[in-house]
Amino acid sequence: MTKKQFQAESKRLLEMMINSIYSQKEIFLRELISNASDAIDKIYYKTLTDDSLTFDRSKYYIKIEADKEKRTLSIIDTGIGMTKEELETNLGTIAKSGSLTFKKANDIEDEYDIIGQFGVGFYAAFMVADVVTVKSRALGNDEAYKWESSGADGYTIEPCEKDDVGTEIILQLKENKDEEDYDQFLEEYRIKEIVKKYSDFIRYPIKMDVTKS
Ligand code: ADP
Ligand code: MG
Repeated sequence: MTKKQFQAESKRLLEMMINSIYSQKEIFLRELISNASDAIDKIYYKTLTDDSLTFDRSKYYIKIEADKEKRTLSIIDTGIGMTKEELETNLGTIAKSGSLTFKKANDIEDEYDIIGQFGVGFYAAFMVADVVTVKSRALGNDEAYKWESSGADGYTIEPCEKDDVGTEIILQLKENKDEEDYDQFLEEYRIKEIVKKYSDFIRYPIKMDVTKS
């Protein structure tokens, strides 16, 4: 499997993102939850225009899973998912917003509904994770793909197993170092606090599952 390189500008931008743009590490969760919510909104818009699809609100949710033993934090959604090509364009190009493209393509004016537009929020994940894995299966597709990256050195994409349409983002959290505490993001009370602080307005249920070590 060959490793693809980020474009030069993207590489510099990514380093900047990880090191300096955000003052608070905790906002990575806000970014990933807003992307998950956008993905569900997109399925909803699809159902408005496609008679063969129905939107059953109860099937759509966002789930946060923390595994203390593996030190992973996963953000799972039952949204529209990404094809192999979308993983490549939306996650392989920094400052490329698939959500902005979607809004334009579908004439969605209301900025409030779909949050994404700048195409950088996802990369906030690298502030807290050494490795970010994205498993996704797009609406109307049988195949699923896995995008994986450990930051500025590029990313890989390969087929993977995924039973349901949607996206699963797995963060392999960084090890605690000096003053930097990453274990906090595995604590139920702390995750709840961050969700409440930044994602209170999200209209889909946010479930949580914490596995102790
Ligand atoms: P923005 O949200 O501003 O568009 P991001 O960097 O947060 O930028 O995400 C880049 C793009 O990746 C999104 O526009 C979207 O197309 C895609 N994406 C990210 N997360 C998901 C997800 N959970 N489900 C589907 N697509 C996603
Ligand atoms: Mg976003």
